[in-house]
Amino acid sequence: MLYLVENKIIIMIGIPGVGKTTLLSKIVEILKNHKKNVNIISFGSLMFEVAKENGLTDRDELRKLPLSEQQRLQKVTAEKIASYTEEIIIIDTHAFINSPEGYYSGLPEHVLKIIKPTNFVSVSAKPEEIYNRRMKDNTRHRDKITLANIKKELDIQSGMISACAVITGAPVRHVLNGEGKVEEAAVKIVNAIGL
Ligand code: ATP
Ligand code: MG
Repeated sequence: MLYLVENKIIIMIGIPGVGKTTLLSKIVEILKNHKKNVNIISFGSLMFEVAKENGLTDRDELRKLPLSEQQRLQKVTAEKIASYTEEIIIIDTHAFINSPEGYYSGLPEHVLKIIKPTNFVSVSAKPEEIYNRRMKDNTRHRDKITLANIKKELDIQSGMISACAVITGAPVRHVLNGEGKVEEAAVKIVNAIGL
């Protein structure tokens, strides 16, 4: 029996500082070497572009907007993503966002139904490593960083991504981005998804 090769829309999630963007640059390098065409989308950056059209100036202010406004921006962003047609699309995003009212989903059901992902990749690392990576990176206005908070966020991540798996039926590949092992983690992802 013949099956058509389907386009891949991969959603990569992980808490801030776990190394998603770093991993994705490595994945792009590998795929370019194999002459594969890939479009990497940072959900947060695209959402910020949309928000800028509405007057916002600081990316880290996004998560402080009224929740209903953030949810509206999420939907507009998802619709933009759904219009892309590349063979491989990888979305760099968060499974949840820390807002003053509490954690809310980065991938609520209505957004997943617009994007229609084929795969999820959930990136994690040791809490101590994530802590150090956040401390190193001073280009961002991060929320207060404690080891206890990072552990709690990793817990919430696992619940949120399970919900995504149930809603969409798409598989979730869990990947550990160990210290100094970006290449190893990137190769695992490429092989697991068959990119
Ligand atoms: P955010 O959600 O805030 O965008 P992120 O998950 O994209 O965060 P990165 O910006 O990729 O995280 O990485 C955060 C920091 O951790 C960077 O300084 C990066 O160089 C470092 N880092 C990422 N992966 C590793 C690794 N495997 N070993 C050591 N350092 C790493
Ligand atoms: Mg990033």
